[in-house]
Amino acid sequence: MIAESLSDAIQKMGGTVMTNREVTMLKNSKEKINSVLLDNDEEREAKIFISDIHPASTIDLLQNKELVRSSFRNRISRLENTYGIFTAHLELKENRLPYLNRNVHIHERDNVWSYHHYPDNGQKRYVFVSFAVPENGSPYATHIDLLSPMHWEELREWEHTTVGKRGQGYLDFKAKRADECIDIASRHIPRLRESIETVYTSTPLTWRDYTGTVEGSAYGIRKNFNELTYTILTPKTPVPNLFLTGQNLSVHGVLGVSMTSFLTCAEIIGADTILEDLKIKNMVKNHKLAKSISDVSWSEFIRELQYKAEWQHKIVQKIDTYYPSSQICSNCGYKFTGTKDLSVREWICPQCGVHHDRDENAAINILNEGLRELQIA
Ligand SMILES: Cc1cc2nc3c(=O)[nH]c(=O)nc-3n(C[C@H](O)[C@H](O)[C@H](O)COP(=O)(O)OP(=O)(O)OC[C@H]3O[C@@H](n4cnc5c(N)ncnc54)[C@H](O)[C@@H]3O)c2cc1C
Repeated sequence: MIAESLSDAIQKMGGTVMTNREVTMLKNSKEKINSVLLDNDEEREAKIFISDIHPASTIDLLQNKELVRSSFRNRISRLENTYGIFTAHLELKENRLPYLNRNVHIHERDNVWSYHHYPDNGQKRYVFVSFAVPENGSPYATHIDLLSPMHWEELREWEHTTVGKRGQGYLDFKAKRADECIDIASRHIPRLRESIETVYTSTPLTWRDYTGTVEGSAYGIRKNFNELTYTILTPKTPVPNLFLTGQNLSVHGVLGVSMTSFLTCAEIIGADTILEDLKIKNMVKNHKLAKSISDVSWSEFIRELQYKAEWQHKIVQKIDTYYPSSQICSNCGYKFTGTKDLSVREWICPQCGVHHDRDENAAINILNEGLRELQIA
């Protein structure tokens, strides 16, 4: 749902969403990145580039790596990654196991903060049990996922293999781990084992091969509260038009990466950097507005803004003077000329029925138009 809303918003603003396309190179000059090269040899130019893959993998994609000092590259490649996850996807026999409308976390050891240690000398494991909602509304479960931490070190033997070609040893290793997880889960969920029809498994190797995640890590770079400045990265990189986002920066998970994307946007556009290049002369003709506009010395304000933005490597984007920000409905795009009258402070869109505060609606339109003009990729 989140991905669909994001994709809709991007397309509404004139952007393109491409799937099943791999970026194979970031083509750069001595100062900045100019374009990305895709696996079908297509080249896409942009002013700004944002990467949500591991920062070290991002730097590896640079055509000319001298754009980034080796100290930065060394630093980010030395950072420890979090463990990956082993999953056993269980397909269940019909009408056997009652559906549980909750997740079950089974910690068989006392210290729940120790799972990142390896080797763990056979310490008891953690299994997370997640019931899929039965599609037919049945009171019986149809699928269950068992998830358990798995270290990259456990998979070293197969790290140079690819999906489906890892050999019998790997299949046996997975079957053994699945069995252990089912054992643990069965101690808390009666009749689980006898309800299983088929077991499908995946390891961090699978995750690495399908998503490119370094070491198949589940949560990206491991953050350490004792070394925050070292293990938490900012969206800024040494390349002025390359920004980072995603789980490797600060917080992982669906919520974490959504929050991080705000940090990345703030880094790029700042709080006040997209503005309307209003026709000041026309506005001053309006007696009610004249005094306040002259007081703020608009041109001085913009000059200051541009100067400060440049100083902090930010962008000030002026949108077209004639862009009708107050007249367009930021929800459906309908143009409503009834708002030309400045006394209309609130209005309801005749097309989609959304209620607007005049200024808030205009601000959303200005931001969207600015981003569209910047063609943020
Ligand atoms: C098994 C498992 C279960 C999890 N369960 C949960 C959960 O229940 N709840 C939760 O909040 N979090 C969960 N997480 C963690 C969560 O999935 C991650 O924190 C989150 O997906 C990270 O988002 P991201 O955008 O940083 O990276 P990703 O989701 O890894 O996105 C990076 C994308 O970039 C693509 N990519 C890589 N290289 C290239 C390239 N060269 N060109 C183009 N595209 C490229 C990848 O295919 C991928 O789609 C789970 C993780 C794992 C492994």
